[in-house]
Amino acid sequence: MELVISNLEKKFILGDRTVTAVNNVNLNVSDGDFISIIGRSGSGKSTLLNMISGLLLPTKGKIILDGKDIAHVSDNELSHIRNSEIGYIMQGKSLLQQFTVIENVLLPFYLFKREGDAVKRARDLLEQMEILHLENTFPSKLSGGELRRVAIARALINNPKILLADEPTSDLDRKNTFEIMKLFQKISDEGTAIIMVTHELDTIEFGDKVFQMDEGTLKENIDAAIA
Ligand code: ADP
Ligand code: MG
Repeated sequence: MELVISNLEKKFILGDRTVTAVNNVNLNVSDGDFISIIGRSGSGKSTLLNMISGLLLPTKGKIILDGKDIAHVSDNELSHIRNSEIGYIMQGKSLLQQFTVIENVLLPFYLFKREGDAVKRARDLLEQMEILHLENTFPSKLSGGELRRVAIARALINNPKILLADEPTSDLDRKNTFEIMKLFQKISDEGTAIIMVTHELDTIEFGDKVFQMDEGTLKENIDAAIA
C-alpha cells in the first residue's frame, strides 16, 4: 500500500467568509507506518481524515492510494475502496444503536459481496479486543472504552490497508488509552498503516512518526513548546 497526498486543500465557504481547513498538505504513508497527527481543536485534523477516507472532496490536490486518485474515481469505485481498503474510526459515537455489537462489526463485510467467514473474523477481533463476552449486547449498555473497541473492530473487519483514527482515545482513562495504543502498535506491526489524529500528547509516543497540524498546515515533528 502506498498513499501519496500532495498539495491537499479544503476550503469551506460560510456566507462571505472562507475557512481554509486544510492548507497545502503533503504526506506519504506506506505499509506498517504508524503516524500520529497532533493539533489543537479546529486545526483541520478531522477534515484531513474525511478527505483521505473519501467522505469529503478536496478543493485542490491529490490523494493517490495505490496509484488511484480517490477524488477522481467513480462513486461505485470510491464506495468499494472505502469499504475494502480503508478503515475509519470516526470521532465520537458511530455505532448503530439498534444492532448488537457483533452485528455492528459485521456490517461493513456485508455491504459488498465477498468471500470468507465473517462471523469468525468478527469474533476473533472481539476476542483480541477482550470484548467477546459482549458480542450480543447493544451499544447503549457499553462503556466508552468498550464502544471504542467495537468501532475499532468494525474498522478492521475487511482487513483494510490503512486505518484512520480520529481521536480514538478521547474520553478514555489511562488504562483504556494504553490498551488501545498497544493494539494499534500490534496492528501496524502486522502491516496495516495507521493515521491517528489526536490532541492528547500522551498517545503520540506509540506511533513512529509525529506530525503537527496548525491552522490547516501539516509539518513533521512537533514544536518544543507543546512537547
Ligand atoms: P479538528 O478536527 O482539528 O478539530 P476540523 O477539521 O473539524 O478540525 O475543522 C477545521 C476547521 O474547518 C474549523 O475552523 C471548522 O470550523 C471548519 N469546518 C470543519 N467542517 C466544516 C464544515 N462542514 N463546514 C464549514 N466549516 C467547517
Ligand atoms: Mg476533529
